[in-house]
Amino acid sequence: MLKEAIKKLKPYIPEQTIEEIKREQGLTKLVRLSANENAWGTSPKVAQAILDWGVQDANRYPDSELTGLRNAIAQGLKVKPETLVFGDGLDEIIQLLSRTLLSPADEVVLTQPTFSEYALHAEIEGAKLVNVPVDTDGLTDLKEMLAAITPATAMVWLCNPNNPTGTYVTHQAIATFMDQVPKSVTVVVDEAYIDFVTDEKQASVVDLLQKFDNLVVLRTFSKAYGLANFRVGYAVVAPQLAKILQTVRLPYNLSTFAEIAAEAAYADQSFVADVVDAVAKERHKWLSFLQKLKVQYYPSQANFIFFKITDAAKLSQELLQNGYLVRTGLGPDWLRITVGQPTDNQVVQNLIRAFIEQ
Ligand SMILES: *Cc1c(COP(=O)(O)O)cnc(C)c1O
Repeated sequence: MLKEAIKKLKPYIPEQTIEEIKREQGLTKLVRLSANENAWGTSPKVAQAILDWGVQDANRYPDSELTGLRNAIAQGLKVKPETLVFGDGLDEIIQLLSRTLLSPADEVVLTQPTFSEYALHAEIEGAKLVNVPVDTDGLTDLKEMLAAITPATAMVWLCNPNNPTGTYVTHQAIATFMDQVPKSVTVVVDEAYIDFVTDEKQASVVDLLQKFDNLVVLRTFSKAYGLANFRVGYAVVAPQLAKILQTVRLPYNLSTFAEIAAEAAYADQSFVADVVDAVAKERHKWLSFLQKLKVQYYPSQANFIFFKITDAAKLSQELLQNGYLVRTGLGPDWLRITVGQPTDNQVVQNLIRAFIEQ
C-alpha cells in the first residue's frame, strides 16, 4: 500500500536537458540561467585529476569514508573529520536529515519561499509544514521563525543565502537565533551559496557548531565550485548526530570519481575566488539595471537574482526564444535568473529592457 503522505506529493521537476530544449524550441544555442550553475565552468585542475586517475579501481567499491576529501575539508573548515557527512549532492543530505530526524506529526519550520526540497522530504516523512513568509524586503524573518517554534517542532530550515530570494541573514543574527531555539530543535543552515556572499567577511556559521550541538551546516560543490554533475555535498554536524547519519546513509553513496573531482576543486581556491569576484561584479550590474528600470527585486548575495515583472511568463518565453532559459514558477510574476557570463547578461538585460519598453 502506498504511504499516505506520498499520495498528495507533487514531484520535484528536474531541469530538462539543454539538448532536449534546443530540439523542442528549434534553437541552435541555449544558455541555461535557470539552475544556478556556475557560468564560469569548473576548475581545469578537476579535468587533470580525473584524467590522471583514469578508470583505476572501477571494479572496486569506493572508500565509504571518502578519507582524502574528508581530511581536506576538515582542514579547510578547521573542524574534526568525524563531523562531516557526505551526500550524493546536498539533495541526498536533505533527504537523509529528514529521514533520520522527522516522524509523522513533527513540525518543520521553513521560510516561504525557499528551496522546495526541504518541504518535499518533510512531507514524505509525514511531518507538518509551518511556512514563515519573508519580510517585505525579502529577508528571512528569524523573529517570526522563532515565534513559529512549538513543542512539536523538530526542525528549522534556514537557507542562507536563501534560494530563490538571494537574500542572506548575518552571522550575528543566526547566533542570536540559535541562543533562543530550544536544544531539542535541529536548525539546518543550508550554505549552498555562502561562497558568493561579499557583504560580510565571515558569513558562514560553521564556527557556531562548537557552541550548538543542534546546528547542522550544509555545503555543496555544485555552485561556486562548478561541480554540479559530480554530485558532492556535505553536512557539518555534531559528532553524535554524524554517527547516526552515517548509520542511515547508503554505504557507498559517492564514487571515487566524485571524490577525486571534489578534492581537486577544493584545492583550487583561486578558481573559486575568481568566480566569486566575477559573480559579484555581474550581480552588481544586474541589480543596478533592475533599479534603473524600477523593477522590484531582492538584494541578492548569491549567484542569482529574483525579480518581479508584469507578464513574467511571457518574458520568460521571449527569453527562451532568444536562447536563454530562466526559472519560473517560484512566485506569481517572479523570475529567478542565474548570473551568467558578462556578454550573456548584457544580451538578457537588453531583451528585458525592450520587453518593458515595448
Ligand atoms: C542547488 C541547491 C542545493 C542542491 O545542491 P546539490 O549539492 O547539487 O544537490 C541545495 N540547496 C540549495 C538551496 C540549492 O539551491
